[in-house]
Amino acid sequence: MISARDALVLLREGNQRFVADAIDRDAITRRVRRLDLTRGQEPFAAVLGCSDSRVPVEIVFDQGLGDLFVIRVAGNIVAPSQIGSVEFAAEQFGTRLVVVLGHSRCGAIETTLQQLRRPPENQSRNLHSIVDLVRPSVQALLHTSPAYDHDTLVQHAVRANIRASVQHLRHGSDVIENLIQNAGLMVVGAEYSLETGVVDFFDGVIPQA
Ligand SMILES: [Zn+2]
Repeated sequence: MISARDALVLLREGNQRFVADAIDRDAITRRVRRLDLTRGQEPFAAVLGCSDSRVPVEIVFDQGLGDLFVIRVAGNIVAPSQIGSVEFAAEQFGTRLVVVLGHSRCGAIETTLQQLRRPPENQSRNLHSIVDLVRPSVQALLHTSPAYDHDTLVQHAVRANIRASVQHLRHGSDVIENLIQNAGLMVVGAEYSLETGVVDFFDGVIPQA
């Protein structure tokens, strides 16, 4: 089992390789690795990311087969199935680091902002279920900081939404709370920058020097 702190180091190093264009794609999808993994898996981190096509989790952390347990949903929201997936990774595979990975210019956040300003008619109930989960953190920002311009508002809303998902995961189930208190599980929040490729771990992590 890899500790949460060691897992964080692996993710940071992988992201640095990605940013530096120093990734070795062959090494991480190699056939021998694939065959080796037929016996089981031990992913060292679970990542709840956005479905956005520009943020493929394994690639931005330069990880390969068997390394990451990835849950992706538009807006990296937390609903019961996401909580269940995290419980599954932590209990079945001993994964000790959970990362909520949002990103700049997130379409789910922008859609929520638009809908708060002008609720559409005939909105699909399914899309609504995502917007409903993003809305509370974004709505709070509109009240506290009404003077923000659109881009600044989106930037802050992205982070507020990541923080909300982190809190939701930390306190969303007795299983996860127990693992945090007694078994070294860590839930942290991070933002991927579409512009630079850098992942900034900003919630639940001691800042790097
Ligand atoms: Zn997104």
